[in-house]
Amino acid sequence: MIGFILATVAAFLALAYFQAPVLVWTVAGGLLAAYLSAVAGFGATTNIVLGILFIAVAALLNLRPLRRLVISDAVLAIYRRILPDMSQTEKEAIDAGTVWWDADLFSGRPDWDRLLATPEPRLTPEEQAFVDGPCEQVCSMTDDWEVTHERYDLPPQVWQYIKEKGFLGMIIPKNYGGLGFSALAHSAVVMKLSTRSNALAVTVMVPNSLGPAELLLHYGTEEQKNHYLPRLAKGLEIPCFALTSPEAGSDAASIPDYGVVCRGRWQGKEVLGMRVTWDKRYITLGPVASLLGLAFRLYDPERLLGGKDDLGITCALVPTGTPGVEIGRRHLPLNMAFQNGPTRGKDVFMPIDWIIGGRDYAGKGWMMLMNCLAAGRSISLPTSSVGGAKALARYTGAYARVRSQFKTPIGKLEGVEEALGRIAANCYLMDATRIMTAGAVDAGEKPSVISAIAKYHMTERARDCVNDAMDIHGGKGICLGPNNYVGRGYQVIPVGITVEGANILTRSLIIFGQGAIRCHPYVLREMRAAKELQGVEASREFDDAFTSHIGHTLANGVRAFVHGFSGALLAPAPAGAAPEMKRYYQRASQLSAAFAFLADMSMLAMGGALKKKEKISARLGDVLSMMYLISATLKHYEDQGRQREDLPLVHWSVRDALWQAQQAIDATYTNFPVQPLRGLLRWVVYPLGTPFRPPKDRHNHRCAGIVLEPGAARDRLTAGMHVGRDENEVTGALEAAFLATIACEAIEKKLREAVKSGVLVTRSGIEVATAAKEKGILSEEELALWRRKEVLRKHVIKVDDFPQDFARAEIMQKLERESAAAARAAA
Ligand SMILES: Cc1cc2nc3c(=O)[nH]c(=O)nc-3n(C[C@H](O)[C@H](O)[C@H](O)COP(=O)(O)OP(=O)(O)OC[C@H]3O[C@@H](n4cnc5c(N)ncnc54)[C@H](O)[C@@H]3O)c2cc1C
Repeated sequence: MIGFILATVAAFLALAYFQAPVLVWTVAGGLLAAYLSAVAGFGATTNIVLGILFIAVAALLNLRPLRRLVISDAVLAIYRRILPDMSQTEKEAIDAGTVWWDADLFSGRPDWDRLLATPEPRLTPEEQAFVDGPCEQVCSMTDDWEVTHERYDLPPQVWQYIKEKGFLGMIIPKNYGGLGFSALAHSAVVMKLSTRSNALAVTVMVPNSLGPAELLLHYGTEEQKNHYLPRLAKGLEIPCFALTSPEAGSDAASIPDYGVVCRGRWQGKEVLGMRVTWDKRYITLGPVASLLGLAFRLYDPERLLGGKDDLGITCALVPTGTPGVEIGRRHLPLNMAFQNGPTRGKDVFMPIDWIIGGRDYAGKGWMMLMNCLAAGRSISLPTSSVGGAKALARYTGAYARVRSQFKTPIGKLEGVEEALGRIAANCYLMDATRIMTAGAVDAGEKPSVISAIAKYHMTERARDCVNDAMDIHGGKGICLGPNNYVGRGYQVIPVGITVEGANILTRSLIIFGQGAIRCHPYVLREMRAAKELQGVEASREFDDAFTSHIGHTLANGVRAFVHGFSGALLAPAPAGAAPEMKRYYQRASQLSAAFAFLADMSMLAMGGALKKKEKISARLGDVLSMMYLISATLKHYEDQGRQREDLPLVHWSVRDALWQAQQAIDATYTNFPVQPLRGLLRWVVYPLGTPFRPPKDRHNHRCAGIVLEPGAARDRLTAGMHVGRDENEVTGALEAAFLATIACEAIEKKLREAVKSGVLVTRSGIEVATAAKEKGILSEEELALWRRKEVLRKHVIKVDDFPQDFARAEIMQKLERESAAAARAAA
């Protein structure tokens, strides 16, 4: 009997695990019934009744028309009743973009071989030359303190340089005079710039993200493209894009700004046009823009365009010189000094041809924006966050080696080491995610869910990194001035958190909310069948998706259980992956099955109400996100040639992500609103208890070691950043002080021993070294090395102080002198 029960359970698990078709389940069920009947010794009549019952059920499940009639159509009717109505804007947001690796993670069975077979994204020689040439050059030309404190703007020569060299037209194809760069190159440029100056990075980032150029490329008329793209490429036009208004921030689709189609006079002729009224704020590059991309709701009460009254959100390009356009005032976003401000207009008349794409695209603005969002969101903020993390990893590691307390470099004190190791590992994971995501965009994807994951998690991890870096720098990070290379990064973090979808909203509403519909193999099909199809077509489509969905949920529940029970030993891992990473792939596969099961159970239990259960949605989104970050990290390790020195970074990152995913799952079922399901979920997902543990201290120690030592691992981790070389500037001095400190460690040891043995009397700094030279303890050369190190060290630990008026008078005089000189030169 025990053997029979075990065999039956094993057969059930196997059929569910491999998602066997209904027919195979039916045959298995028939065999089981026949065996039970034989063992029980039923009489002929009972057997006949049971046989008829079995045939009826088998027919119901296997004959599609019958199944539809009795089961699926009834479920479809209920589904239609409970499925919340979707507004057009919601629908357009959901439909936008593409799904990629996120769909694999949602399937419960990611195809790791396919991921690893994706070619490693690489820069072309031309792109690399740009990153090494003009990009390095503009970094050297930019002094962030001058930008953020003195000018509140980039210097004129930097503006000129970025326009001339095409920085503002990286995404514009060469045939329009742009650089025609790949997403990876675009990302490499933004990353490097952000390691030097945030204002510089944002100024370059915005024209290459969602805005006039991107919209024109996808939807512009030939005339619009031919006119504007070459001008944008060469910086003859400075673009901005204005969507946000005081009343509509996150809920951007509800903008109150409006236009009315009408006839009016334009350049002496009567033309069809629109009178547009808007009040926008927070518009990056707005104060200096010459071309305003404007989103507003367009109405056509006189039906001049031949359609309906409320046409919907519309995007137009408005030269800022147009009479009635108000522009030029500035906000001050956390001292970052990139140009940002409001714009307004009241009943401004503009020709209908100013709609991007022409009159055919009136009312299609939201769809256009949603479709173009993913590319820029995959690059801009994730990339600038990685730039920040790289700079923090390199500079904080160096500082923690140069700065000593308790006669020990602070980086070697365990408490500091913990924070430093986190920065290094986060930096590795973030760079891996940046590259994989840019690679997806270059492969033609517009990854809407992945771009939300990358935006949210890269900005949040940058926030973690800068918090750690600030703690490690102590007062040095707090007192602002030219000698502080951390404080501005700390200030700017909330900007990235807020823009392009504020983070709380992105986590609570977008990642899982959009993922559940777009990445799930069956949900979108079910929804379409319910809302868009009718009659037999709807019935057929729903039946197919719904029955597959049940098999999918069952399969993932069983897979999660089996992997939980077996320590994921049976879970798939790619054949060609590094053996030392095999267990991580298996654990990520386990996570994927558990996530897919939880996602289905949440949708089943909460239906449309899940949209409002933001805490559950956010946690499920966290699990999906962690799997994406793990995938990127493992792929990066392979793509970089399995660098053994980087192993601690991989171990820490993957273990941390698994641990975080586990906590999110834990919080999901602990708070699951349908109480009877809580125990079941916990039992299915973790039958033997929670399997993941936090990252190990020894990995953290080695991660910190990577940024405390010069070498290939440190250079690889921070590759692509601008490294200061000028010792008169603090970052250049820091890099030099770091090397000099290490070169002087033997000298320090000699001095310490001489003092300890009483040969030298302890006096401060330079005197001890000079006395050591006099006593023959140090050579002339050693003394010189030591003196140089001390000069650099003092430069590094120095903080700035200012006159009582913070030198404003001096600064104003200097700026006035420069302006006068510029005016003379122009004359
Ligand atoms: C420096 C800067 C530059 C910008 N540049 C531009 C630009 O160039 N062009 C442009 O059009 N806009 C721009 N913006 C606007 C930016 O996109 C908005 O600030 C952003 O969309 C958030 O809107 P809000 O600030 O009004 O916050 P609100 O919408 O008021 O949100 C406040 C908080 O509520 C949360 N929240 C809102 N709804 C939900 C929800 N349903 N569930 C959970 N949480 C929610 C948000 O996450 C946020 O934490 C910029 C903003 C800044 C600060």
